[in-house]
Amino acid sequence: MSAETLQFKTELKQILHIIVHSLYSHKDIYLRELISNASDAIDKVRFESLTRHELLEGDSAWKIKIVADKTAGTLTISDNGIGMTRDELVENLGTVAKSGTKAFIEALQKADAKERPELIGQFGVGFYSSFMAADKVVVVSRAAGQATAAKWTSDGEGEFTIEDAERAGRGTDITLHLKEDSKEFLDEWTIRSTVKKYSDYVEHPIVLDVEKTGEKDEKSIVEETINSQKAIWLKKKSEVTEAEHTEFYKHLSHDFEAPCKTIHYSAEGIIEFKALLYIPGKRPADFLWAEAKRGLHLYIRRVLIMDNCEKLLPPYLRFIKGVVDAAELPLNVSREILQDSPLLEKIKTNLTNKVLNTLDEMKNKEIDAYTSFYRELGVVLKEGLNSDWGNREKLADLMLYESTKTEAGKLISLAKYVEGMAEGQDEIYYLIGESRELIEQSPHIEALKGQGREVLLMTEPIDEFAVEALGEYKGKKLRAADKGAPEKSVDDEQKEKYKGLLELLQGRLSDLKEVRLSTRLKDSAACLVSEEGDMGAHMERLMKRMGRTDAPEAKRILELNPLHPAVEALQSVFTKDATDPRVETYARILHDEALIAEGSKIKDSLSFAKRINDLLAKDAQK
Ligand code: ADP
Repeated sequence: MSAETLQFKTELKQILHIIVHSLYSHKDIYLRELISNASDAIDKVRFESLTRHELLEGDSAWKIKIVADKTAGTLTISDNGIGMTRDELVENLGTVAKSGTKAFIEALQKADAKERPELIGQFGVGFYSSFMAADKVVVVSRAAGQATAAKWTSDGEGEFTIEDAERAGRGTDITLHLKEDSKEFLDEWTIRSTVKKYSDYVEHPIVLDVEKTGEKDEKSIVEETINSQKAIWLKKKSEVTEAEHTEFYKHLSHDFEAPCKTIHYSAEGIIEFKALLYIPGKRPADFLWAEAKRGLHLYIRRVLIMDNCEKLLPPYLRFIKGVVDAAELPLNVSREILQDSPLLEKIKTNLTNKVLNTLDEMKNKEIDAYTSFYRELGVVLKEGLNSDWGNREKLADLMLYESTKTEAGKLISLAKYVEGMAEGQDEIYYLIGESRELIEQSPHIEALKGQGREVLLMTEPIDEFAVEALGEYKGKKLRAADKGAPEKSVDDEQKEKYKGLLELLQGRLSDLKEVRLSTRLKDSAACLVSEEGDMGAHMERLMKRMGRTDAPEAKRILELNPLHPAVEALQSVFTKDATDPRVETYARILHDEALIAEGSKIKDSLSFAKRINDLLAKDAQK
């Protein structure tokens, strides 16, 4: 086939531009990325050859070779991995943008310049990072099982060409024509130290040609392996330095910072495996993208089987990065069959326990570190309350909330809340809303505050589901301050006094489930509450904001404060003349007031304004 010139996909052009212009301070990461691709390519052919032995073509001496040509000013990274066909070269290196690319570019455009390198790092720049160091890149590749090779050439400006080529054997050579300011990578020492820094643990040998002088002063060129190749998770715990962990974690996560906690252990007994897990300190940038890669790297006896095995941890621990190397799983079955293996389920249970226990230990011993982790990722952990029944208690112990008794920004655990409960209090109070300020002003907690009771203040959308699912903690029911009947009942005298008025309002305000008296209020005249089990007002507002107009709207209960002068005034109008139209008007004003107080929207704001204006006009005439 003849040579063709093709255009990069638009998003790739944008990405290239951004990478070249904002990552210059981390220029050396291109070597890490290319070595990582080479290593992946070797893993792929090794895995494929388990069932298709012929792909090896007799060559299973896995190797990644780096050759610096000072005269030509080029650096070549070669591997004997799976290789790419002509079509694959076009697809992988030019036309198909990675999933999530669009979202990534949008995030980049919004981020300020300082944050960009971090975002790019988290996305994983891959092959394109070579254009940070090179103004021309040539890729020659021959796919396993194919007789011919193909050559891909580009200056990273918008086009690339593809043509037929020759290559002895399977694999890929990536040749970078280094830019003037990257010529230091022709230097052996720079190559060695960069490989050591980023790719030391890569399990395949990374080799350099070095000149050796023999006994008789004769010179010869020999290959020297420059990485230690020791899979870091197989080393003894005490043998791995913190710096090594940090580099390995960065490689796995594309994070620019160190992990907040490292979990390194071997499981023995019923099932044997080694695990190296990292708990990130920060929410990854791709956290909310559906296409983001999740899951752990799964190795079986050092052979990489899958790099995003999602079945190893429950979804609510999807922020964990790491590696599992299992001894007993079958090697030569398809990934689909493997994913359903009961052994994998056992590993998952073990890993989940380990992570939850580690978090608990962190919470008990390093509360500051735990709190800062929790602020970033606690919201994901909360999903577990809803989905992992077996671990509900453990998860409940990991939850932290603000409360009416904490300073703004300080968090307490449920255990601490229970410790501080007053005598006779047998429920844990909470209220969900948009912000601490709004919840604190809510009429629903006036009386509780008055009695000195602590109320947990929850502000995450997920809290509504999570707390409902939790139901209780250590035998104490979790009780929403704006749901169900108030703890103290209204005294009989009041009930008798307001009986007629309530009956009348009940009939008139038909959009309400009930109108009743309340002991929940102190300074406010009225509030709206939901029946227990119904969707709360906060959730309803969220649903509406998300455009979910089909969400069922549960009828609410209007509670009136029998001791409030406005309610007493309403009652006296009613006593004088039950048919006075002002009874309904005033009740509607109280209803609207209650909506405003909880942060909801008034349905008919024009009528509300009119009612208030009428009152104003009348009052002014006095
Ligand atoms: P990523 O590695 O994150 O998928 P890259 O842009 O680095 O993204 O690479 C795109 C694709 O090109 C890879 O997924 C892989 O299929 C292919 N590729 C890159 N380098 C090699 C290589 N050395 N050998 C075989 N395939 C490769």
